[in-house]
Amino acid sequence: MKVPVLTIMAILCLTTNAVAWNELGHMIVAASAYDQLTPEVQQKVANLLKLNPKYVTWVAGVPAKQKDRIAFLKASFWADDIKREPTYMQDGTHNGNRPSGPTASQNIGYADKLQHKYWHFIDLPFSPDDTKPVEPAIPNVKTQLTLFGDMLKSATASNDVKSYDLLWLLHLMGDVHHPLHAISRFSRTQPAGDEGGNLVLVCWKPCTKHEKLHKFWGRHPRDQHQSEHGHTQGEPVATGRSSNGPHQR
Ligand SMILES: [Zn+2]
Repeated sequence: MKVPVLTIMAILCLTTNAVAWNELGHMIVAASAYDQLTPEVQQKVANLLKLNPKYVTWVAGVPAKQKDRIAFLKASFWADDIKREPTYMQDGTHNGNRPSGPTASQNIGYADKLQHKYWHFIDLPFSPDDTKPVEPAIPNVKTQLTLFGDMLKSATASNDVKSYDLLWLLHLMGDVHHPLHAISRFSRTQPAGDEGGNLVLVCWKPCTKHEKLHKFWGRHPRDQHQSEHGHTQGEPVATGRSSNGPHQR
């Protein structure tokens, strides 16, 4: 089965906007992309999705006519879901956010029970004060998008691997448009980087509640502009640095 992966990737790029990082955002991206696929590609994609162990739960109770589309939408955040699945193991170092060892780059399909958290982002360095940056670890979201795209075009890869790679590609194309999935700020006060904004705290005035900049960006803008009481607030302000605790990226 050969999927025109460039078509899928191009559509995902064109239709991704700045809200695509929670489940809703990932599904919006997936829906926009799916509706622009040709019926032939939709069928190929549907056949690959059926190989995912979660397919049955994605389409449970869904009318037959809508199953393919709904499965595509729900598949878009499977790569985040496996972070909470007991059958999947955290790998790498730094709470799983840094790759370690040869298994970090393996591409073996659903036999792979590693979470690969470091596939979700790339820490491209930025420094406002000429602090020497650390180059991004490999593998990262950029290397994986290239790999998965190549595998979907492959004439020899198994459908199991293509299914696994399609789900990752669908998810990562949304992730990579989150600004803080693609950058880390290195500064004199944070010479090892801010981990994609995870080490920066922000709040809305009057600052009763603080949160990590990374998470702040990942929420829907509608949420960002509402206070706990539903009123529009002013600009967010940086309030300090968070500790080096475990971060979700
Ligand atoms: Zn992700």
